[in-house]
Amino acid sequence: MSVDEAYREFVELLGEENVSREPAVLDCYAWQPTFNDDPDRWVKRPVAVVLPSSTEEVQEVVRICNRHGLRFKSFSTGWGAWNGPTFDNVVQVDLRRMDRIVEIDAKNMYAVIEPYVNGAQLQAEAMKVGLNTHIIGAGPNCSPLASATSGWGVGHDSIYMSYSARNLLGVEWVLPDGELLRLGTLGSSGEWFNGDGPGPSLRGIMRGSCGALAGLGIFTRCALKLYNWPGPPEMEIDGIMLDAKMEVPENIGYYMCFFPDRSSFSDAMYKLGEAEIAYNALATSFGGYLDILTPRLFRKLEHTGALRSLITETFKFTLAVLLAGNSARELAYQEKVLHAIVREHGGLAMDVTKMEDFFSMLFMSFVRATIPALVFRMGGSFSTALDRNDSLDTQVTWREVIRKIKEGYIAKGQILDDLADNPYFVPYENNTWCHCEVVYQYDPRNPEHREALEPIFLDVTIAAIERCMEPLFTSDPRVRKLISPLAGNFGRYQQAISRGLDPNQAADNTLYSVEADFDFSGIDPERVKRLQGVVEQRRWQ
Ligand SMILES: Cc1cc2nc3c(=O)[nH]c(=O)nc-3n(C[C@H](O)[C@H](O)[C@H](O)COP(=O)(O)OP(=O)(O)OC[C@H]3O[C@@H](n4cnc5c(N)ncnc54)[C@H](O)[C@@H]3O)c2cc1C
Repeated sequence: MSVDEAYREFVELLGEENVSREPAVLDCYAWQPTFNDDPDRWVKRPVAVVLPSSTEEVQEVVRICNRHGLRFKSFSTGWGAWNGPTFDNVVQVDLRRMDRIVEIDAKNMYAVIEPYVNGAQLQAEAMKVGLNTHIIGAGPNCSPLASATSGWGVGHDSIYMSYSARNLLGVEWVLPDGELLRLGTLGSSGEWFNGDGPGPSLRGIMRGSCGALAGLGIFTRCALKLYNWPGPPEMEIDGIMLDAKMEVPENIGYYMCFFPDRSSFSDAMYKLGEAEIAYNALATSFGGYLDILTPRLFRKLEHTGALRSLITETFKFTLAVLLAGNSARELAYQEKVLHAIVREHGGLAMDVTKMEDFFSMLFMSFVRATIPALVFRMGGSFSTALDRNDSLDTQVTWREVIRKIKEGYIAKGQILDDLADNPYFVPYENNTWCHCEVVYQYDPRNPEHREALEPIFLDVTIAAIERCMEPLFTSDPRVRKLISPLAGNFGRYQQAISRGLDPNQAADNTLYSVEADFDFSGIDPERVKRLQGVVEQRRWQ
């Protein structure tokens, strides 16, 4: 390994100003506060950071790493510890200079983008031509390319605009040895409109359901499917976040629907999908909104018996539905159908558009998914219980299971009291397929909270395995190793793919194909026994 020699080559390739190994700069990349298990919030410090501006430069960066025994790890907009190095010899490839919307093809409804284009930028440009883009629940600051090619991809527009990976068309992919691969029609005709052909599709290998999280190379451009936007080309908004004010476009309806019980909630969601009327749909607890919008008030409500039960029991099955019609007549139709579904299932639909000031603030926050990031306000940090994509009824059960687990920790003061029931629950593609991850919040400065993170993680893992959940969102190598034998030994295939595409193992692939062992020392033996028992019980024979 020769960092000095590699560094000289990086400077020659990219210029002094686009390469650094200044300790303070490197530490800025290594301090990763979000979704980081390290109590002090550090990941490994990269040996250098490089900022390429083109696909050719990315290829050359990767080749230099291969030649000098270094690994590389890329990030696009970089929100989360997953983009940080996991080895000691990693070059951080910061893609922020690749920030172009290359093309918007309005007729064929797709956009070609580079890694550092964020959701808000793409949405603003798409809206100018009557189109819209899927934005993940993490918010508009994130990279649509990163979620489509490399990690997760759920958002509360998913009922209409799907899951990130499903919107992916042509892809430009720098493999871990520096070779360039163009997927889909891009590889055969230079056009971006199809990600799968002619010829066999590599989408499963490239992305799978969770994403390779930089473990299989660097994606430099991709085409994403766009969707209809019935609103105006531009919107005037005054103020930001919770102080924002705007004139909400015509033909928009927003309803908060409350259902009396589990079955009416699920059945109504199935019907909503069949009716194909929703533009956005998000089921979370009523308490979840208060928690992120009014954290100080929420802390007071927690201690009130009657109000607490009103929020957790009476308003438990809440579904927010955004309707967007191309005309007043279409919106009227959508509203009629929604009311009929809600009525048929004994629910109540509250028309939020009538609360003009509130809705004027909420509308674009919902369409752009800016609100979920306010989750940090309550106590500093959060995590989620092994999120998964599965059928609607299974998700409702999962929500309940995690609520019960959380109640134990809340009672002991080991996580923040968010009233326990705090799901991010969205349906996909007007279908029976849904996402449910249950949020738990904690204060990273509180030692009791920090100590509880490992036991919660284990309890949730046990609960997931007990229910044969798919290993979808598990980037954690320890969980992958545990679950792989229960799911067709997928870990073996990931390792074979990794070795095949990356003979020098130059990509930082811990989050994709490296398997770590659980270190059971210091962990409650009863939990360890339960974990081992449930794994054994579910193992493929
Ligand atoms: C408040 C909050 C809410 C969230 N809600 C959701 C949600 O609703 N839905 C959801 O899907 N996720 C959600 N997340 C998780 C989110 O997906 C991650 O934070 C993720 O890192 C997105 O960040 P990013 O777009 O900045 O991508 P990055 O952090 O840049 O990248 C994500 C991963 O992909 C890799 N990568 C990035 N670019 C490339 C590239 N060009 N080539 C190869 N690999 C690359 C990175 O190394 C990293 O592993 C949430 C996160 C937060 C903080």
